[in-house]
Amino acid sequence: MTDFHFGGQPLNNDLVASISHVLRTAGIPNLLWGNYLLTVFGVPTIVDDAAFVVPDTLIETAYSTLTDIGFIPCAPSFNCARPYTRRCPPPTSHLHIDDNLAVSLHRKSDMLWAIPDLEDIDISRDADPNVVLACDRRLPPPIPGRGRGRFSSGLDAVWIPSAVRYCEALILLLCRDYGSAYEDYWVVLLTYMLEFVDGTELLDEDRLGEEYRPFYRALGQADPKMYTNLDALRRGLSKGGLLSVRPD
Ligand SMILES: [Zn+2]
Repeated sequence: MTDFHFGGQPLNNDLVASISHVLRTAGIPNLLWGNYLLTVFGVPTIVDDAAFVVPDTLIETAYSTLTDIGFIPCAPSFNCARPYTRRCPPPTSHLHIDDNLAVSLHRKSDMLWAIPDLEDIDISRDADPNVVLACDRRLPPPIPGRGRGRFSSGLDAVWIPSAVRYCEALILLLCRDYGSAYEDYWVVLLTYMLEFVDGTELLDEDRLGEEYRPFYRALGQADPKMYTNLDALRRGLSKGGLLSVRPD
């Protein structure tokens, strides 16, 4: 166990590192997710939670672990309970830092179903193509107006999806949620990645899986062919069994 206890600390890299560490110490591998993850990639965006992807079978353990260390259960008066804030799929469960800020937990099968089980990802070495450390030197440094950037290496290790896997996951999520209220959200996130991360050491079109490239390229060029490409990709993914059903 760790001796971390939540007592109203602000949402920042220290708190995110503490949460990730507490979960990992409780036997729950986790990857940072949500808008906080975008800011680590150097995307300037508003952050309203610290979100983590955890194995499906450990979501309840994760919730109770975070409750035990003092995070606040949701209440009807909190802002997240208002339906208009739901422009993206809600987390499987969440707790609160305060009225407006949440700690969100997502099932791996809802967000990152195409990568190996988190228990099987070898985080002891730096060569796994699915994940990187949030303090990896290839991530941008903190720059005012350009997101939070990489974590300080002095903090407990926080793992994030690699930029390539993250982009592929966003495309898969867009394919899954195409035609729903969440479609625009995934397009916006992909556009951010194209604008702020593509072309860096972390991400370029050629490193994505071949099947994702035509759509990704067309989106980057705002080419109307992107819709045709997206349809073709969705058909291909369905055939290959890579498209899961959208959660309620
Ligand atoms: Zn809530």
